[in-house]
Amino acid sequence: MPADQPTVLVVEDEAAQREVLRYNLEAEGFRVAAADNGEEALVMLEEEAPDVVVLDWMLPNLSGIEVCRQIKTRTDTRGVPVIMLSARSEEIDRVRGLETGADDYVIKPYSVRELMARVKAQLRRARPAAAGLQLEYEDILLDAETHRVMRSGKELKLGPTEFRLLSTFMEKPGRVWSREQLLDRVWGRDIYVDTRTVDVHIGRLRKALGIHGGDDPLRTVRGAGYALG
Ligand code: CA
Repeated sequence: MPADQPTVLVVEDEAAQREVLRYNLEAEGFRVAAADNGEEALVMLEEEAPDVVVLDWMLPNLSGIEVCRQIKTRTDTRGVPVIMLSARSEEIDRVRGLETGADDYVIKPYSVRELMARVKAQLRRARPAAAGLQLEYEDILLDAETHRVMRSGKELKLGPTEFRLLSTFMEKPGRVWSREQLLDRVWGRDIYVDTRTVDVHIGRLRKALGIHGGDDPLRTVRGAGYALG
C-alpha cells in the first residue's frame, strides 16, 4: 500500500452508515480510518493523519461541532478539510453560524456519489499530488498521475521515494518538514525507518534535481528539517 494513498477519517456513530462510507471510499481508492465517537476521532486524527475528515454532527458525548472546532484550532490539523454531515438543513445553518470552520456541509440522507465528489474536491484543494494533479514550482513540473517530473523542460528520473518526497515538498512550498513528518508522509506510519534514511533520500533527490544543472531548490533548516524554497 503506497504511503501517499490519501486517507479519509470517517466519524459516524451509526455502524451501517459508517460501513457504507467505508465501502464507497475504499472503492474510490482511499484508505479509510473510522471512529464511532468524537473522543476516538481526536485520537485517530493524530495517529492516522487523515487528508480529509467526514464528520457526523450528532455523535454521543463530544459532538461533531466540538470535534470540528478542535480540528480547526490545533495548528497541526487546521489545514485538514472537514465535511460535516447533518440530518437537517437547519442544523447546517447552525453549524455555519457557529463558525466551526467546517469546509463543506452535506445533508442526510445524502447521495453517496455526491459525497464522494465533495471528498475528492476537498482532497484536490488540500493534497493536489495525492489527487493526481500537476504541481509546479519555479521550473519544476510534477505530474502526479503519470509520475513524471520535468525541470526546465527536461525529464528527471526519480525513484519512488524521491518522487513522493518531491511531491510532499511541492504541495506546500516554503513549509519546513521535520524528518519525522517526512517519514510519516513519505514512508508511512507503520514502517520503522531511521531518520537518517530521510537524509539519504534527500541527497538523492538533490542530485536528481541538479542533474541538468540548475540551483538546489531544497533548503536544509538546521535543527528543524527540510523545505522547498
Ligand atoms: Ca449520528
